[in-house]
Amino acid sequence: MERVIDKVALVSGAARGIGAAIAARLHGEGAKVVLGDVLDDEGRTTAERIGSDARYVHLDVTSPGDWDLAVKTAADDFGGLNILINNAGIVNFAPIEDYTLEQWDAVIAVNLTGTFNGIRAAIPALKQSRNGSIINISSIAGIRGYEGIAGYSASKFGVRGLTKSAALDLGRYGIRVNSVHPGVISTPMTAGMTLDMTHTPLNRVGHPGEVADLVLYLASNESQFVTGAEFIIDGGDTAGTVTPTTPA
Ligand code: NAP
Repeated sequence: MERVIDKVALVSGAARGIGAAIAARLHGEGAKVVLGDVLDDEGRTTAERIGSDARYVHLDVTSPGDWDLAVKTAADDFGGLNILINNAGIVNFAPIEDYTLEQWDAVIAVNLTGTFNGIRAAIPALKQSRNGSIINISSIAGIRGYEGIAGYSASKFGVRGLTKSAALDLGRYGIRVNSVHPGVISTPMTAGMTLDMTHTPLNRVGHPGEVADLVLYLASNESQFVTGAEFIIDGGDTAGTVTPTTPA
């Protein structure tokens, strides 16, 4: 299985959760991977577990300088960059009347400005590859609203718009840009939450590897006519509401 053989990928927020699953899946299909995160110990361990041709770099996505070093690592160690996954994200909670400016600034800085920083830093290397793919991890909170996460939802709607605009600007260089919109996925981010999925058609949470499978398609040449598009992976959550059946 070599669906991304000879490609080099950079994944932000890759120490754990969805990002770690994406890095492992791309590596398993032949890619060389650079994993970036702010959790240095966990990130190093994840990269070592993935194996050879996997590197960890400290990457705070709010820092343009960190991004430049991460792209340089891909170029120096693996010869270039073909795939950028903007995955790092945080969430914070409060009803809008109690939501503070600090909360707003924090979530916009990581989720939205962090994605912008990543795209900007990667463009020169992706241009050189002549066959680049940028995949921005948004959320179903970038498709519809949810109570208590105004900043998160705004950031994820922003990622969706940024994706479409960047796709228009970068198509001429052979760079595709798409967004992925997961529903509830079992990761450290959702670990403390009460998750009742009985209103959804598939009646379960998703797994990081299932998101990684979709990202693999978008990273590979199988999706070479796909850009500016949004991909929902949510077990049918945004399709509508299922009435739970009571056993007879
Ligand atoms: P996670 O388990 O918390 O992993 C995210 C990783 O990103 C963590 O290691 C986190 O470190 C890191 N990170 C936070 N701020 C960062 C920064 N400034 N620079 C670099 N890395 C940073 O989350 P996840 O569930 O895998 O989520 C991954 C992405 O999927 C996020 O964009 C999230 O919004 C999106 N998503 C998740 C779900 C879900 O249900 N899990 C649903 C829809 C969308 P810290 O622990 O220090 O924060």
